[in-house]
Amino acid sequence: MSQQTVIERVDVQGAAVYIGDRDDGTSEYSTNGERIMGWLCDGWRYRFNALRSRRYIINSDRTHHPLSTNPDERSVKTMRVECSWIAAMPAMVIQSPERVENTQWFSAIARRKTNLAHHRRMGRLPSFISRKHNDQTFACWHNKGANANYHQVNRNHGIVEVKGQNPKEHREHGTRFTIRIHIRVSQPIRDYTAIRVNWTRRTLSFTNTPLPLQHEPTGRKLGIDVGVAHAATQSDGIMLDLPKHKLDRIDREIRRRQKAMNRKAQASGKSRKQYVKDGVSKRYQHEREQVRQLYAKKKRIITDLYQKYTTHLVKTCDMIAVEALRTANMTRRCKPKPDPQHEGAYLPNGQSAKRKLNRSMLEASPSTLRAMLEYKTTLTPDCTLIEVNPAYTSQTCNQCKHTAAANRESQAVFHCQNCGHMENADINAARNILEAGLKHLRSTDGASHEPTTQDMPPASRGRHAVVSCKPQHLV
Ligand SMILES: [Zn+2]
Repeated sequence: MSQQTVIERVDVQGAAVYIGDRDDGTSEYSTNGERIMGWLCDGWRYRFNALRSRRYIINSDRTHHPLSTNPDERSVKTMRVECSWIAAMPAMVIQSPERVENTQWFSAIARRKTNLAHHRRMGRLPSFISRKHNDQTFACWHNKGANANYHQVNRNHGIVEVKGQNPKEHREHGTRFTIRIHIRVSQPIRDYTAIRVNWTRRTLSFTNTPLPLQHEPTGRKLGIDVGVAHAATQSDGIMLDLPKHKLDRIDREIRRRQKAMNRKAQASGKSRKQYVKDGVSKRYQHEREQVRQLYAKKKRIITDLYQKYTTHLVKTCDMIAVEALRTANMTRRCKPKPDPQHEGAYLPNGQSAKRKLNRSMLEASPSTLRAMLEYKTTLTPDCTLIEVNPAYTSQTCNQCKHTAAANRESQAVFHCQNCGHMENADINAARNILEAGLKHLRSTDGASHEPTTQDMPPASRGRHAVVSCKPQHLV
């Protein structure tokens, strides 16, 4: 969680910064903001890669395989002596890769372990940061005011000051310098622990915790069904839909550009893989970048909608019940069906039909919506999130509680075989989810009275929060 701001310009006050020796051995100094920012990014990346080079990959047969052929074991101190361009680097900048590298590495290992356990593709281990392919970034610890101090200049502008000093042998242009990063802010900056600069995108983010949302008790309780046809359906009948036309237009553009990339690979006469390996054309690079940006744009549109929606929900509801769905399970591939007549051949197994569903499922990313609800409700003590067992929520009639697969007439229509109750299938499911949530609230409360805000747990999650919607006669 962080607050992101835009960098407007950078200037340097005090001494000219010693940024290393030139090839002919003369010292180089600079007071150019742009140059200094590039220097900080370079130093940070160098240190990061040195730390990364010490990592080992443990193979399945328990053999260790080093990530680099010559791991860099130097400490910051020796590095400052041996590399002239590190010498004047502020300590809070050059030390910060340690934690960043560590977190990134071990979270990737944990993620790969989980993926393996769930029979998914493991995903890549993180590698070195590339000057060419990655954004130019650096981090600086705030460390309770040790460095990277921020002050507001006026309503929309502020300055972050990164201070440092030149090494003893290079003080002919002064000792102490201050790199002043001028930023544009739109809201007050909260307490932070570090800053992170992305110099490629000219952004600066403060690492801090988000604010709790303003919440007025309204007594409103909602069940929410997250789905494919509608991104979210509330138990009161309101639906949230993704801007389908907008997203489809982006999809068409992506396909068009991907075709262009294919044509370029084909024209070279090589296989796609070989073409990419041998170095692609300028035009291909351009298309690839455009596709990347289009995907990012699509994601931004969805995330923005979800953020606004969940904030609205948490602000206006006292209780929100959602299904404890697992996307990974639902989007799993269909089992291959071997053809008994032909050796090595397979019968259609419905995978291609499922692929479309998988794709739209991942696009609507119910897990993102739930994750947002989760952290927002945790921060807001007056709003409770309850995860209910998803079993039978879409098959149970909300009126008479009759449960049958036949009740679900089609994707959109619910038609009870017992009482004839007819409703939109998603709204029916959302109402069942709400009921399961309310049932859980009553059971945790121990009495039938309306739960008060004091005895409601913050975000109920995990095994204890899961309540079944399964009707009595099926148990
Ligand atoms: Zn019914």
